[in-house]
Amino acid sequence: MKFKQFLQNLSERLGIAETPALPPPAVDVPLAEPRQLQRILPCLAAWGVKQIHWIAGDSPDESDLISAIEQTVQLGMKPCVRGRATDFVDDELLAKLVSAGAAEFEILILSAIGEVHDALAGGGDYRNALHALAWLAAKNVDEIALLSLVPSTWKTIARTVDFLGHHGIQSIRIAAVVCRDDEPSSWALSTSELIEAAEWIENHSRFGTRFTWYPPMRFDPKRTLAQQVRRGPRALPDSLRIEPDGRVFLPIGPPIALGNVLPDEGQTVARCKRYREWTQRADAAHRCTACPSPPLCLHGCLCAPPQWSDSN
Ligand code: SF4
Repeated sequence: MKFKQFLQNLSERLGIAETPALPPPAVDVPLAEPRQLQRILPCLAAWGVKQIHWIAGDSPDESDLISAIEQTVQLGMKPCVRGRATDFVDDELLAKLVSAGAAEFEILILSAIGEVHDALAGGGDYRNALHALAWLAAKNVDEIALLSLVPSTWKTIARTVDFLGHHGIQSIRIAAVVCRDDEPSSWALSTSELIEAAEWIENHSRFGTRFTWYPPMRFDPKRTLAQQVRRGPRALPDSLRIEPDGRVFLPIGPPIALGNVLPDEGQTVARCKRYREWTQRADAAHRCTACPSPPLCLHGCLCAPPQWSDSN
């Protein structure tokens, strides 16, 4: 892998601009009907994608979700599911997804305090989240907490992280909803609060919890905070977002497609300048001294608006 990257960097320096970048190891895909997924999934597998994070969305169709997991497994990729517990706990859907091959679940957990969680995730979701976590732990299925960081959940983060640790959850993905310091909103964290949060999380990671940051989500005043939290982030920082019609998006920036995987199994995307620059961003990243941990800058400055994802 390192040798391939070295060759790619060398080619770039020699000006061989058409060298395709490596495929992302994983992609985030919103759930859709099997008919649509049958077109994009073989293209993703042929491109070299190894893992699909399925975004279940509100009230996912049970048979669509099971079919998506089965198709992912049949094509040799690892299926993971991201969503709200309320959408999985009915009708033994969790058990059906695990038997279909779901290898990992990322469940929305916003706070150790039920009222704070339910205010954003919906009435009763806190109870359902506890049920889902206990069920997955009993079956030894990998589980990850998705913690949207907004003012109310930031206030309760110490209790939430302790609470998750008590329930055996050692992996937390953070998706902060943010705004610029000069465009403040009482619904979002300002960039200075984001740095404070980064420092708190870095200190807390010494106690064994593994934190991963999604690119921060820019607060969208046209949507309610609950809608933005439930909709969730676009993609992990080293992943791409693939829409069911094949369009490809970076995890950061405005929602402008890089291209489409359908015509040539990702090869045009792999050669496009924006994608190639994005794959080299770790080499180009510069850090200041505001945050405590170099890995926070790995994919570009967490606090710089160009590194945030804008609402679609
Ligand atoms: S450049 Fe790095 S250290 Fe500086 S504010 Fe951004 S994320 Fe923090």
